[in-house]
Amino acid sequence: MPLPEKTELPEYLYLHVPFCCSICAYCDFAHVAYRSESADRWLTALRKEISLKKINSDLKTIYIGGGTPTSLSECQLETLLSMLDFCSRKTQEYTIEVNPETMTEQKAAILANHGINRASIGFESGDPGLLNLMNRHHTAKDTMHAMEMLRNAGITNISLDLMYSLPNQTMLQIQTSTMQALAMKPAHLSLYSLTIEPHTVFAAKHMKPCSEDLEADMYEWIARTLPEYGYQQYEISNFAELGKESVHNCAYWDYRDFYGISTGASGKQNGIRYDNTRDLNQYLENPLCQTKTILSRKDQMFEMIMMGMRLKQGMKKELFAERFGESVESVYGETIALLNEKGPIQKSEKYLAATEYGYEILNDILEEFLD
Ligand code: SF4
Repeated sequence: MPLPEKTELPEYLYLHVPFCCSICAYCDFAHVAYRSESADRWLTALRKEISLKKINSDLKTIYIGGGTPTSLSECQLETLLSMLDFCSRKTQEYTIEVNPETMTEQKAAILANHGINRASIGFESGDPGLLNLMNRHHTAKDTMHAMEMLRNAGITNISLDLMYSLPNQTMLQIQTSTMQALAMKPAHLSLYSLTIEPHTVFAAKHMKPCSEDLEADMYEWIARTLPEYGYQQYEISNFAELGKESVHNCAYWDYRDFYGISTGASGKQNGIRYDNTRDLNQYLENPLCQTKTILSRKDQMFEMIMMGMRLKQGMKKELFAERFGESVESVYGETIALLNEKGPIQKSEKYLAATEYGYEILNDILEEFLD
């Protein structure tokens, strides 16, 4: 059955800033060391990309990530945000990623002036030794100071990133870092478990994450502790105060279309996924350089389940039916019935959701849908 005709423009936009002041030992994101002159050239290419793409002027969310968006100078940040003013008027959630060491009061004021109302700060750990090992040049105090500057500028919806399963990290260290993060009273917390990607400094040094058992214990402790402090788990790795769930990230998990702007970004629109070039020089020459993947109907159905079931409440059945013109039961009825009988999936009128047990073995559940 062909997909229902869908020609609306995406309502969500991700923009990737490819510069970082220093390179973290675990990172394989598209990034280059910040140089003012390269950033100016990147802004020129970005302006061209934005003018050539048909961008919805009524976006619901914008997310500026990286790289390190706040590695840009104040003047460059102003230029970047001015380019997005035309599509941020009705934005419900406008997020920027912040590295604590690069924040200034002037930058916080520029962000607020352009309507940014949410910041995601790379706290990662409060342990100086682990931060040093990761080649991150900030302290827990810097994170606190960055939060203060953002709050003083009026940006109070702040999320902190927290990393676990780091090499030689102990349970006590993750517990201490979690408590330090909680003491700063963020609205939202995102967890990242370390995976060693090839071509990173950690891989070159043959570093290993902590043991799998300890990693599971750390996750279990964090997931148990955060709700005690008022942060509900709404996705596998995300916890928020009530009403502070990330609208932008929920759009990914709801499998909605989104723009991917700038080098290293990916987007999805009308059944086509595109990956913009990760090569900055190539991007400077041709800001529309990208590879496209046409997603089959089956691919899209599976991806929608895969993303939706990351949410604690599960995948919204209504969205599936809206997108594909048929119910999830009519496509995956047998699999759902079997998994429901065995226990990892619970019956619900509105959601296709894992049980507590199913949430722990989500990858195994998804394999059943692949089959
Ligand atoms: S983790 Fe973030 S700040 Fe560190 S190198 Fe990667 S993109 Fe840059």
